[in-house]
Amino acid sequence: MLITVITIFPEMFPGALAYSLPGKALGKLWDLRVINIRDFAQDRHKTVDDTPYGGGAGMVMKPDVIDKALRYALSLYTDKPEIVYMTPRGQLFKHKIARQIATNTSGMILLCGRYEGVDQRVIDHWKDTQNMREISIGDYVVFGGEIPAMIVIEACLRFCPGIMSNENSVIDESFTNGLLEYPQYTRPSVWNNVAVPDVLLSGNHRDIDSWRFEAAQRITKTIRPDLWKQITDNEL
Ligand code: SAH
Repeated sequence: MLITVITIFPEMFPGALAYSLPGKALGKLWDLRVINIRDFAQDRHKTVDDTPYGGGAGMVMKPDVIDKALRYALSLYTDKPEIVYMTPRGQLFKHKIARQIATNTSGMILLCGRYEGVDQRVIDHWKDTQNMREISIGDYVVFGGEIPAMIVIEACLRFCPGIMSNENSVIDESFTNGLLEYPQYTRPSVWNNVAVPDVLLSGNHRDIDSWRFEAAQRITKTIRPDLWKQITDNEL
């Protein structure tokens, strides 16, 4: 799958994505194209932003420039990719959305805002004509869409076949069954006077599975009662 990032800071990529499993798979199981918004600026100063109509702090990214960058990104695909604008006003990014986006095997285009964000008209136009999604990584504001885009890319790559060394880790991990993951332990079996739960050393896989399932339930109930409520509501 081809992932295209549209940004004014192309040098931030691949950045963290060049490491570990995503890094090993880069160029093999997935490809990354990074588009510099400035290349689509119309004037010799390469202007990508301007002051907001109505006044106020900060700058707004110009609709004509962003539209050109998006159109160029789309031209790199034969089948329609997911198109995503990273914004604090977007849908909250969750496990389910990552899985949904990752099923689009042609890939995705991620638009990263900076300053005060992007002119509303180009957002509306791409939502109306190309089903662009707006995604937020959480209820807080960061300086730009690049780190949010990396988060979306990493979460989606975990669903991309072959990237995880052990496919079972995707099935097992937090959120897959709506639960947070059970606690994990490794050697030494006693550390700081605390022993690893006996059952995990027993070699009895049925007992281990049920211990883990119960632990996952207990942890979810305690730490995230909201998630627990969703599960129990869905089962009714
Ligand atoms: N003025 C905007 C914030 C702009 S922050 C507002 O109040 O909503 C600049 C850019 O950072 C945004 O365009 C977006 O691309 C990115 N960004 C900031 N916080 C984000 C978040 N929580 N999720 C996704 N993208 C975010």
